[in-house]
Amino acid sequence: MDILFLGTGAAEGWPALFCECDACVKARILGGRNIRSRSSIHIDGELKIDWPPDTYLHLLKYNLNLAKIRYLFITHNHYDHLHPDDLTMRREPFAHMKDGGSIHIYGSKDTVDQIVKVVGDPFKLGLDLHVLEPFETVSVGEFKVTALPADHASDRVCLIYLIEACGKTILHGYDSGFFPEEVWQRIRDCKLDIVILDCTNGALPYIRYHMGLEGVIKVKERMILEGIADKDTIFVATHFSHNGLLTYDDLVSTLLPKGIETAYDGLTIRI
Ligand SMILES: [Zn+2]
Ligand SMILES: [Zn+2]
Ligand SMILES: [Zn+2]
Repeated sequence: MDILFLGTGAAEGWPALFCECDACVKARILGGRNIRSRSSIHIDGELKIDWPPDTYLHLLKYNLNLAKIRYLFITHNHYDHLHPDDLTMRREPFAHMKDGGSIHIYGSKDTVDQIVKVVGDPFKLGLDLHVLEPFETVSVGEFKVTALPADHASDRVCLIYLIEACGKTILHGYDSGFFPEEVWQRIRDCKLDIVILDCTNGALPYIRYHMGLEGVIKVKERMILEGIADKDTIFVATHFSHNGLLTYDDLVSTLLPKGIETAYDGLTIRI
């Protein structure tokens, strides 16, 4: 499976939209892996996680054909993860799609409600919307996907995803603080091949709602201890914010010795 990190930034992007802080100034000067658009990943060009406001930028940057995306899983309806307006571009005359197949979109009820509120009748756009409850599992194509509750916001349901395909298991873990105990119980018997973790807070010590270096390292240590992960498991930190203060090189200097990869826009991992 190929996992492509299209964007690896928090809601405001990095450099952030209106920001003049030192971390954003530094990112503008250094460029390269310090430039982070809003977060999303693709798996095998068929399953997409999140629909950020930077989707069109991603299409241009990675030469994507979004008509090929069959399954779209939304983590939650914060606007950096769900920008439903762009879904309206699926209809004629804005799009002429060859196979006319629908796209299946999965998310919490909050997410589905918000999509309907913005796009109107989903069927006219070829959107097949599915509400997922925490701990529910669905089979889509070659993928088996389980929604798990995130520790992220108290005013809406936020999900992380356990994705199984081709004998491999991926835990997609942004946006979330340190995982709730019920998530640890659910994944206790899993053997994870890749773990994608929220590192929004960077150098800051907080682990509620988002994590930083400390939380990411703590998750890895517990997973190894409990046998959920081992030396072959790939750990990747992503969803970085300028408020976490650390440049790409700063992040790598702490995470690499701990066996954790630092994501950047355009990173591809094959498992
Ligand atoms: Zn976010
Ligand atoms: Zn800034
Ligand atoms: Zn969020």
